[in-house]
Amino acid sequence: MTDCLSSPAERLDSVLATLRENGMGVRISTSPSVLEAHSHGEAMDAARLPAAVVFAEATDDVAAVLRACHAHRVPVVAFGAGTSVEGHVTPAEHAISLDLSGMTDIVELNAEDLDCRVQAGLTRQALNAQIRDTGLFFPVDPGGEATLGGMCATRASGTAAVRYGTMKENVLGLTVVLATGEVVRTGGRVRKSSTGYDLTSLFIGSEGTLGIITEVQLRLHGRPETISAAVCQFANLNDAVQTAIEIIQCGIPISRVELLDDVQMAASIRYSGLSGYEPLTTLFFEFAGAPAAVAEQVTQTEAIALSNNGLSFAWADTAEDRTRLWKARHDAFWAAKAIEPTARVISTDCIVPISRLGELIAGVREDIARSGLRVPLLGHVGDGNFHALIITDHTPQGYARALDLDRKIVFRALALGGSCSGEHGVGMGKLEFLETEHGDGTLSVMRALKNTMDPHHILNPGKLLPPGRIYQG
Ligand SMILES: Cc1cc2nc3c(=O)[nH]c(=O)nc-3n(C[C@H](O)[C@H](O)[C@H](O)COP(=O)(O)OP(=O)(O)OC[C@H]3O[C@@H](n4cnc5c(N)ncnc54)[C@H](O)[C@@H]3O)c2cc1C
Repeated sequence: MTDCLSSPAERLDSVLATLRENGMGVRISTSPSVLEAHSHGEAMDAARLPAAVVFAEATDDVAAVLRACHAHRVPVVAFGAGTSVEGHVTPAEHAISLDLSGMTDIVELNAEDLDCRVQAGLTRQALNAQIRDTGLFFPVDPGGEATLGGMCATRASGTAAVRYGTMKENVLGLTVVLATGEVVRTGGRVRKSSTGYDLTSLFIGSEGTLGIITEVQLRLHGRPETISAAVCQFANLNDAVQTAIEIIQCGIPISRVELLDDVQMAASIRYSGLSGYEPLTTLFFEFAGAPAAVAEQVTQTEAIALSNNGLSFAWADTAEDRTRLWKARHDAFWAAKAIEPTARVISTDCIVPISRLGELIAGVREDIARSGLRVPLLGHVGDGNFHALIITDHTPQGYARALDLDRKIVFRALALGGSCSGEHGVGMGKLEFLETEHGDGTLSVMRALKNTMDPHHILNPGKLLPPGRIYQG
């Protein structure tokens, strides 16, 4: 039964009435503070209150919500931890925000096969804490305290992607509730399979626009025998970038290589209380493996850094020192924000093939100098991915100047064969770049997929795909 001729408010009431009849009334909230908390993610100003928030505890709850929303044409946006930065979770008008953060069970742990199945609301930090005794860990580590479902939906990565890959490489299968409320399982537990279309990959990075993920089958990895971390500072940004490029080109299996420029390093020293470092451009390294392999990686890396005028290697030997260092790296966004606490920070996220990274960063530095804005640079340079954290005020002029710089940086990356987003995703913030990056034909196929899987466009409408031509076949 559909009621598309009634008003959006009446249709929403019908959905809520259906859910209450199904015994889900206690999971529905319209409290102002709950609505506010679900009206936006991080970083982007875009905000709109959802009409109601529903807290799911099981796949069946998600299916019940989507069945009702599909029948009554009510938009629904999945909400994990709300750490996404491109307006991903900002609801459409009269939408339900479907919060999965209460779905935190480890459904199965197969230590002998190095995999596990978890509910989508579990965070990667909670997963790692719970499986610590197995000697295994899950390596994908975005800076925010994100849920694994949200990380699938944004195809997230982090500091360890250079060694372990992104969510794309670390998810074996999914349970997904489709727009109609039908539940499907994709993939499986095996490391490879040659059967059928790769639907797991289709849902990874789909930002809640094709289905809602309720369970994730994850690859786990053995904790390395030896881990060693070091820091090398440089007087010149180009030397640091060149060092990162050469490390990757030489095939050194480094676990992490992160860049913080002098502005970011000064901010992180202040914010995270890092001692013993100068406010200079810095590379953070981590090496992992058997002791002999780590020693070899260290020797090769040190030689490359010193040949590029690295000032010296400082070691973070103890687990506490390493934790302090990587926590400082993960807190870099908040350190940049603390430079001007009342300002706003817009983070670019472009990525280029590693050989073009030096050229891109040199051009970006020129754009920043011309903009007159304060912009720390940092990033996962081993992947060719970096963030310019554009600090601006809240005036329309300040915002326009920041967006102008953002666009210049993105178009530089696209011209070098890159992408406008290496890890944050599209949401609303990157919509304008998709046609340049993918071309009209490719986008028309994506729109056809969206129409097939979500014919009434109830799933996170207005995100990921700009309007346009639909491939007809
Ligand atoms: C300080 C900081 C540092 C960050 N660093 C990184 C980084 O290094 N790397 C990186 O990749 N990202 C980073 N991010 C961005 C963010 O943490 C990631 O995008 C993360 O994957 C979002 O997860 P979440 O659980 O918060 O999802 P949310 O923000 O709640 O949702 C994100 C999107 O996924 C959809 N969604 C959520 N759950 C589901 C589900 N179960 N099924 C279907 N769709 C769903 C939502 O509708 C939305 O479109 C950072 C953010 C911050 C604030």
